[in-house]
Amino acid sequence: GRPACECNTCYGGPDCSLFLSSCSANADGGDPLFLEPFWKQHAESSAVVVAGWHRMSYSFSDQTTLSQELESLLRKLHSQVGNAITDDKYILFGAGSTQLLNAAVHALSHLNSSFPASAVASIPYYAGDPARWKNATNTTGDIIEFVTAPNNPNGQLNEAILHGPNVKTIHDRAYYWPHFTGIPSPADEDLTIFTISKLTGHAGSRFGWAFIRNEEVYQRMNTFLQLNTMGVSRDTQLRAMKLLKVIIEDGGREIFEFGYKTMTKRWDRLRKTLSMSNRFSLQKVAPENCTYFQKVREPTPAYAWVKCEREEDKNCIEILNAAKILGRGGSVFHDDDRYARLSLIRSDDDFDMLISRLESLVSKEDGAK
Ligand code: PMP
Repeated sequence: GRPACECNTCYGGPDCSLFLSSCSANADGGDPLFLEPFWKQHAESSAVVVAGWHRMSYSFSDQTTLSQELESLLRKLHSQVGNAITDDKYILFGAGSTQLLNAAVHALSHLNSSFPASAVASIPYYAGDPARWKNATNTTGDIIEFVTAPNNPNGQLNEAILHGPNVKTIHDRAYYWPHFTGIPSPADEDLTIFTISKLTGHAGSRFGWAFIRNEEVYQRMNTFLQLNTMGVSRDTQLRAMKLLKVIIEDGGREIFEFGYKTMTKRWDRLRKTLSMSNRFSLQKVAPENCTYFQKVREPTPAYAWVKCEREEDKNCIEILNAAKILGRGGSVFHDDDRYARLSLIRSDDDFDMLISRLESLVSKEDGAK
């Protein structure tokens, strides 16, 4: 056996399998390690080895086939999955979708006016820069609306609520993959952003891409990306290409079936655990037709959006924290603190621990069902 000090922080015992009771279950943060077992099964075919002398140039001065090949792999994947129409659209790579979201805001503000545009989104919303964002009602002037579909934190397939000549929309499609939602129809929007983080789980590689209809918007985003980081790391592009090749080989069947199955099992366990509770409830997301799996299916969102139902439980995350569960309070998403977000896409160990902590919390409820 290994000494306790060599185990991960929250484990002990001779083979590090004993969860320490002092530790909290981690359901904070969207680290998508639920896909790690898939990549363990494809360790060899997904490996990348790069010799020291290889691909040293700046990516813009090295117009080799790498970015072109990556681009055609992405277009192929979207046509296999049916989640985006990519014909007649420009494509740009970014350091995660985060950089592309920033590039898009840059490109769309001051487009037709000397005043900066206001950025808005419907509550609850995910935001990198909360100070700049507002609720999407009651705004005048040039407006950029962020539409996150499926939404973080609640998994709803949001649609744009603002329309008109002074409105520009950025569609954040980070979670528009069969792991998390039915794919009712392909996205065909002016500006749509995807990320490898929630597709393959490689959040640390920092790779995202955007489809852009309008040439001027594309040029302005491209200028931002060149000034900001001079393009996306070649090493990252190489790794993304290798990963995409593995998933494209069978039309995405294996990874999406794995992701969908894993998320379905997790939602079943979570629903069962909370079905005993009068105190905590889960969001309801309508079933969607999935053109990829060719059936109507229950959505399996990346996050649980838990509501504390008791009048006195005004701060839901405090109650969960006291029961040794880490997550994020509703106010992080500009909503009521009666809500809290729990991440369901972390590792199997994190999820098992979350269920076990929830079970013991629910079992202590007065009048639990
Ligand atoms: N958009 C949404 C809705 C997200 O939830 C996240 C990450 N949690 C991101 C964008 C950023 O992802 P990345 O920069 O890793 O692509």
